[in-house]
Amino acid sequence: MSIIIAVDGTAASGKGTLAKRVARHFNFAHMDSGALYRLTALAVLDQNGDPSREADAVKGARTIDLARAGDPAIRSDKVGKASSQVAAIPAVRQALYAFQKSFLEHPPGNSLGAVMDGRDIGTVIAPNATAKLFVDAKPEVRARRRWLELKSLGIDRNEAELLAEIVARDHADRTRAVSPLKQAADASLLDTSALGIDAAFAAALALVEPKVTSALKASHRG
Ligand code: C5P
Repeated sequence: MSIIIAVDGTAASGKGTLAKRVARHFNFAHMDSGALYRLTALAVLDQNGDPSREADAVKGARTIDLARAGDPAIRSDKVGKASSQVAAIPAVRQALYAFQKSFLEHPPGNSLGAVMDGRDIGTVIAPNATAKLFVDAKPEVRARRRWLELKSLGIDRNEAELLAEIVARDHADRTRAVSPLKQAADASLLDTSALGIDAAFAAALALVEPKVTSALKASHRG
């Protein structure tokens, strides 16, 4: 059985960056599950579909192009909003479920474990994960980070608008009926409002390392 680290959290909380660093630290595979919803949204928009319409969204989920996971097009705010719409449709989540499960059960590259970030990893996809983090930061801090990130890419956005988009997406994710964004009862909360990326990584590691180390020892014994 592989070792699983679930990293859930709010929009633009830095969970993806943290998950990648944690995966690198342990030499585990990493999957950004949000990319699956973003690729679904991109497919729907490319097909001139409506992301809130079940038939269009399911077709999108079935035709995602994984080769585009690194495409900056999926990171746009438009795709972000549409991804939250497709993610609220149960049949879309079902269509993406098996892919996520098999990644966790058989991490690529013969890795001993996998780190997956998203909204429902610790609650639905991997309720028995070895370690779970829930990453959050004050909305204003997340909007500022996103603004700076976009600025570094040469994109000038209004910070108040970004804040409104982040708050709206969190609200949609928290209040949907299926797999809502919420902290699992056994997840450790990591508030990165006052932490830079290095300090946040150190804090994440302090929370997950003891659990991962004992699971690795147990797997060597077994
Ligand atoms: O994490 P990211 O911001 O890329 O996710 C985009 C959207 O995909 C989220 O706002 C959420 O609606 C959806 N999502 C989800 N479950 C996941 C990962 C992402 O519903 N496990």
